[in-house]
Amino acid sequence: MLLANVESKIIGEPNLIRFQTGRRHKQWDKNVVAIGLSSGFLEPLESTSIHLIQSAIVRLIKLFPHVGINAANATEYNQQANLEIEQIRDFLILHYHVNERNDSAFWQDLRSMKIPESLAKKINLFSQTGNIFREQEDLFLESSWLQVMIGQGIVPQDYHPLANTISEIQLKEMLDSMKKIKQNPLEKIPSHDEYLMRICGA
Ligand SMILES: Cc1cc2nc3c(=O)[nH]c(=O)nc-3n(C[C@H](O)[C@H](O)[C@H](O)COP(=O)(O)OP(=O)(O)OC[C@H]3O[C@@H](n4cnc5c(N)ncnc54)[C@H](O)[C@@H]3O)c2cc1C
Repeated sequence: MLLANVESKIIGEPNLIRFQTGRRHKQWDKNVVAIGLSSGFLEPLESTSIHLIQSAIVRLIKLFPHVGINAANATEYNQQANLEIEQIRDFLILHYHVNERNDSAFWQDLRSMKIPESLAKKINLFSQTGNIFREQEDLFLESSWLQVMIGQGIVPQDYHPLANTISEIQLKEMLDSMKKIKQNPLEKIPSHDEYLMRICGA
């Protein structure tokens, strides 16, 4: 399936990597702090592992004990770490849960899976009103949530009334100017292939 979808020349065999998802109940326990894979693993879809390592290091520096271990520091660390991982979990589940595929029982089952309440609330709010709010510290911005929800076919039944205050012409002008701003630097950047040829060509 994977190989059938590769358009260019195949230069290697796919490598199957098995993984187990999950997390520790306590990432910080007594004088031990688990960071990276030792603390847990979500899955590679949004590639958050390295981000989680970086953010755990920053969190540990902020809560670093002064004299001996303070249980309050560990509790705070664990709460923040749990929230962070649960927010990423919700965003990952969203991709699977709102899929539109019918070609296998796998995708159909995922559509009917039980999802966390926090995610159900987010999907419900968006599909009824078009609103998305970024939870505090959520790694993913509103634009990421929007892209996955709209991209997977959730069309909101309503929109914010402020949207009525600009005309379609004004909206088009705004979008055109945004496109121009993005297009300018893009034209100067080499394509992926060109860049690789430049650094590896020799
Ligand atoms: C193909 C692939 C692509 C990936 N892409 C991304 C990506 O795009 N973005 C992203 O965020 N993440 C990505 N990841 C995940 C990310 O790279 C890993 O989650 C991360 O590197 C894990 O770091 P770690 O330090 O926790 O573990 P590791 O990098 O596995 O380090 C653990 C170290 O401990 C050593 N060790 C193990 N047991 C012992 C022992 N008993 N005694 C002493 N040493 C020991 C090991 O040799 C190893 O050096 C990818 C992973 C893979 C496999």
